[in-house]
Amino acid sequence: MKLGEIYSKIQTNPIISFEIFPPQNDENGEKTTKLFEEVKHLKTHTPALISVTYGAGGSNKDTSFAIVKTLANDKNINVMPHFTCVCSSKNYIQNSIKELNEMNIKNILALRGDEPQDCLTCHLDFRYANELVSYLKETTDFSIGVAGYPEGHIDAPNITEDIKNLKKKLNAGGEAIFTQMFFDNSKLYNYLELLEKQNLTKPVIAGILPIISYNQLDKMLSLAKVTVPKTLMTKLEKYQDKKEDIKKIGIDFASEQCQELIDNGIKNLHFFTLNKSYSVCSILDNLGL
Ligand code: FAD
Repeated sequence: MKLGEIYSKIQTNPIISFEIFPPQNDENGEKTTKLFEEVKHLKTHTPALISVTYGAGGSNKDTSFAIVKTLANDKNINVMPHFTCVCSSKNYIQNSIKELNEMNIKNILALRGDEPQDCLTCHLDFRYANELVSYLKETTDFSIGVAGYPEGHIDAPNITEDIKNLKKKLNAGGEAIFTQMFFDNSKLYNYLELLEKQNLTKPVIAGILPIISYNQLDKMLSLAKVTVPKTLMTKLEKYQDKKEDIKKIGIDFASEQCQELIDNGIKNLHFFTLNKSYSVCSILDNLGL
């Protein structure tokens, strides 16, 4: 099913989706085997789609596409590959699209990505995601998702400019907006209001991160503009070395966060699983989903 169909349905129940990533340093394939075990658990919550991340510049293309291919062969999974354009030539992108078409992929998350620091073969065929969206729209039948940033993208001077740039992606053919993680729901409500003022009416899918590690969160926060409510941060700091406590704090927080979103009519939830099913499944159990 394409993004337009998934998210245009009159919704009574929340629409759940999951993001996974190709494991790194997995020469013997053990981590990938473990990932598919986690996917089995995630599948019990009947996700509308599972998305698979992709390294900027195609750094992990083979592992990412291999996972996409395996999931695409499961008729019960709707898989959405992420695809970045930074540093990639048009020719490389054409060939990658061919591979995805051979896997019968219907949906794609079109991203710019971040230029790797050590990029030696930087191509400038695509500078921003809107250019990739235009290209995909012209040359493929994919239904195209794009990224959105409730607190603004880290490089954008302000949220207004960032939304102007989001508009370019939507005008080029983006059909749904998958957001970056956020922990303060008021940031999402504010974002939705700003989008509405600009007549940007495409479905927004809220990105939810169940926190499972303090250090991992700390690293993610250094790369993005994301506010963590003070009460949550105080708790995380207090228990930062206690893995199980952090996991529980993450589950409790995300369960409440999602319940509040659902109560406010926001029913498209995309979970950044970090390749672990336990926290996400616990949250969905808490929500009765
Ligand atoms: P763009 O939309 O191109 O925006 C990038 C910046 O440029 C923004 O500041 C924007 O305001 C500005 N801008 C955009 N268009 C223009 C324009 N035409 N002129 C001037 N300025 C412009 N990264 C990965 O490498 N792999 C992944 O799998 C991945 N998955 C992600 C999934 C989600 C849900 C999200 C939210 C992000 C993901 N990212 C991923 C991260 C993303 O690649 C980075 O945030 C990247 O810095 C921006 O990508 P973008 O597609 O949003 O870029």
